[in-house]
Amino acid sequence: MAAVVGLAVLLVLGAGEWATRNELDNQWDNLRRSGEVQALALRGVATRYSYLPFTAAQQPLIAELLHHPGAQSLRNAANAYLQAINANAGSDTLYVINTDGLTVASSNWDTPTSFVNQNYGNRPYFRDALQGQPGRFYGVGKTTGEPGLFASAPVVENGRVIGVVAVKVWMQPIVDTWAQLRDPVFVTDERGIVFLGSVFPWLYKTTRSLPEQDVQQVQFDEQYGARWAPQPVPWKTLQRDSQPGTEIVVPGTGKRYLAFEERLPDLGWTLTLTADSKAIALARQQAWALASLASGLLVLGALYWQLRERRLAENRQARIELEQRVHERTYALQQAQAFRQSMEDSLLVGMRARDLEGRIVYVNAAMCDMVGYAASELIGSLPPYPYWHPDDLDRHWNDSDTVLAGKASPQGRENRLRHRNGSDVHTMFYTTRLIDGNGQHIGWMSSVVDITAQKRAEEQQQQREAQLQRVQRVITVGEMASTLAHELNQPLAALVNYAAAARSLAAQGKTELLHDSLTALSAQALRAADIVGRIRRWVRQHPEAREPCDLNAAVDQSLDLLLRAEARRHGVAVRLDLAQGPLHVNADRVLLEQVVLNLGLNALQAMQTHATPPTEHELLLRTTADARFASLEVLDRGPGLAPEIAERLFEPFFTTRSDGLGLGLNICRSIVESMGGELRANNRDGGGAVFEIRLPRLSSPP
Ligand code: ADP
Repeated sequence: MAAVVGLAVLLVLGAGEWATRNELDNQWDNLRRSGEVQALALRGVATRYSYLPFTAAQQPLIAELLHHPGAQSLRNAANAYLQAINANAGSDTLYVINTDGLTVASSNWDTPTSFVNQNYGNRPYFRDALQGQPGRFYGVGKTTGEPGLFASAPVVENGRVIGVVAVKVWMQPIVDTWAQLRDPVFVTDERGIVFLGSVFPWLYKTTRSLPEQDVQQVQFDEQYGARWAPQPVPWKTLQRDSQPGTEIVVPGTGKRYLAFEERLPDLGWTLTLTADSKAIALARQQAWALASLASGLLVLGALYWQLRERRLAENRQARIELEQRVHERTYALQQAQAFRQSMEDSLLVGMRARDLEGRIVYVNAAMCDMVGYAASELIGSLPPYPYWHPDDLDRHWNDSDTVLAGKASPQGRENRLRHRNGSDVHTMFYTTRLIDGNGQHIGWMSSVVDITAQKRAEEQQQQREAQLQRVQRVITVGEMASTLAHELNQPLAALVNYAAAARSLAAQGKTELLHDSLTALSAQALRAADIVGRIRRWVRQHPEAREPCDLNAAVDQSLDLLLRAEARRHGVAVRLDLAQGPLHVNADRVLLEQVVLNLGLNALQAMQTHATPPTEHELLLRTTADARFASLEVLDRGPGLAPEIAERLFEPFFTTRSDGLGLGLNICRSIVESMGGELRANNRDGGGAVFEIRLPRLSSPP
């Protein structure tokens, strides 16, 4: 910018300088041409009448008069002659002077300002002519007081000057033409005194200081009037730097003129023409104004360009900053998005957003996992949603309508959903309004908590509590009585059978067989008594009845007691698969046999009710052992265990038989568990059921 301003200043200065120079050159040319013309005119006027005195001096009448100045007739003739020639030539005055300087005849002899009898002896033109030279002199007339150019010629007779003829020429007409010019024109004599000019106050002033001798000469000659005294012109002349001509400065007026001098050496004069410097100053000012305008435009242009550049740069900077901010914002958004995504993915709670019509617009990963559908399958769907539980459709519709009506309970609502794999999913839905960035309500956001495990645990707990309550109630009403009745039922039934057999054998007189029957009968009776005692002790939790006993032996004993006979009665084959050697366990022997007997009878009953061909009916008793446990499996080909039965087998009073009590398996499990073992039921490969007793094995035999 500084460069532009500098350039503008240079332009203004340069233009001013150029305009000044140009105007000066023009002015100078004009002055020079005009000077030549004016000099020619001046010279013309000055020399036009110089022939007149010479011509008149040749006239014999004039010489005659000079010889006889007192002769009136000669004077009259000379006056008439001079008057005629003067009038004819157009000069001012033509007159004859004798050697004393006295005018003897003149063309203006008859005017009040007649030169006749006037003495011009002190005039230089007279002196020059007296010396035989033509004279020329400019001065103020002694008689008229009017300035004029005086030219003279000697009247020579026989080589002797006898008088002088002079002519006065009025210069005013040329001064009048100068008055037409705009600027001052003046003429100085050889002493530098202004004697002709268009500026009246400058007349007869000196342009340079005069030596005293010259002052005296001028005063003696009365060249510029009798009262003339040297006075300087009211201006100063300055030499122009390396330029032709001079400059005239008029102090106090502010005027300056360019001055051109044309010398007229033959006349001893110098013609000076001037031109007002104002035109130069004006030209300079105009150039300055124009250049300033141009410079102003240049500076404005530069300013505009600079502003535009600055604005462009600012725009560029702003764009870069904007891009930077967008980049930062995008990064921050990506960060926030990634953060939100990982937060959502880590959530165990399902999230589901719906619009005001109930269309799903968003689900998170947990929600998808919970119902087994991909987000793409759920987003966009309207109720009914694929995960609604088919058994709860009314409830789902009702809930959905409630939520969309804005009446969802803040406490949440329990809902059963159906997973894609068919399993039930128990959930809690908590729904709130979904608000967008402008505060507009645009839908509903639900968080979904999977409470299936909790629900199941609750159900189990409830079942257990119900069962416990039931068992406790049974115990209070006399569980012992029922148990005893059940356990005694078998030996008592055997007693009845043996008694009936004994009666029949006694009637037939078969005493030997009768004896065997009675022995078996008393064994059953003892057994019944034993059962009562042992159950009572067990109920009272008397563990001292436990003793090391062989599991294989318990199987044999049970078969002998009742099982083999019952199997035969049912047409069922009994097969034994017993492990090698005795399998010692720490158990209550009678109760252990009771358990084996009970399991065996259940197996027979199951095969009896089952529709499988009797040929396939078989009761298999198998014992196995490892280092720590001995186990007995009772296997049948009955109907097996349906899931709903398997679940409840060991519940007290659970029975599928019309005459059943539902206590057998329950008591068996209690007995086995009291011995530190476990009783398990399963379906058998190829059909039927398998019940397994597993007891800790005694490492060393008793
Ligand atoms: P109950 O004396 O009433 O038969 P249990 O406790 O002995 O009582 O048996 C309960 C139920 O278990 C029976 O009603 C029967 O439905 C089922 N059950 C027992 N053993 C078997 C088996 N071997 N095969 C199939 N079902 C069985």
